[in-house]
Amino acid sequence: MRQRRHVIQQLKKEADTDRLTTLYNRNYFDTVSMLQIEQHEANNLPVAVVMADIDRFKAVNDTYGHNAGDVLLREVADILKRCVRKEDDAIRWGGEEFLIILYTADIESARLLAEMIRKTIETYAFTCGIAVTISLGIAAKNKNEAMEDCVGRADKKLYEAKAAGRNRICW
Ligand code: GH3
Ligand code: MG
Ligand code: MG
Repeated sequence: MRQRRHVIQQLKKEADTDRLTTLYNRNYFDTVSMLQIEQHEANNLPVAVVMADIDRFKAVNDTYGHNAGDVLLREVADILKRCVRKEDDAIRWGGEEFLIILYTADIESARLLAEMIRKTIETYAFTCGIAVTISLGIAAKNKNEAMEDCVGRADKKLYEAKAAGRNRICW
């Protein structure tokens, strides 16, 4: 019985984890994160999100190869893991795009976290030996706003950060 429970836990963990980066995946967001967000909202606790996207990542693949790109993705993911609090969720949202959910956090905490991530990546010595930067967009969830819309606002801010020259945060 105990062994069976262990196998089920293992399968659930695999289903919730991105293979390359070992960050959470969208399946985790849709199930666990969404539930936690609802619970926070029910308790009048604020939730904020940070959407992050590596700058000019395609050029890394084109110049150094797909494997080097994979290594870089893992290194960025490790930085994200070190920067977020253990109660927050760091999710691989797409190829080189990441969503961080901050629980019981306002826009100012999200901005501070985003700045720490931006700065750490800017100064980190990556294996491929090149300078890497990241752009970030932030949104605080409004009460009764659909989570999809909140993520959409963070995405829009990320786009603004890209358009304004990258390696920056917009909120
Ligand atoms: P921008 O600054 O505007 O974000 O430019 P970008 O080059 O980062 O963005 P673009 O969307 O043009 O390219 C993203 C690239 O990410 C293209 C795709 O091949 C690469 N990519 C997506 N997933 C993976 C992956 O798992 N491994 C590797 N090596 N590359 C990936
Ligand atoms: Mg990119
Ligand atoms: Mg992208």
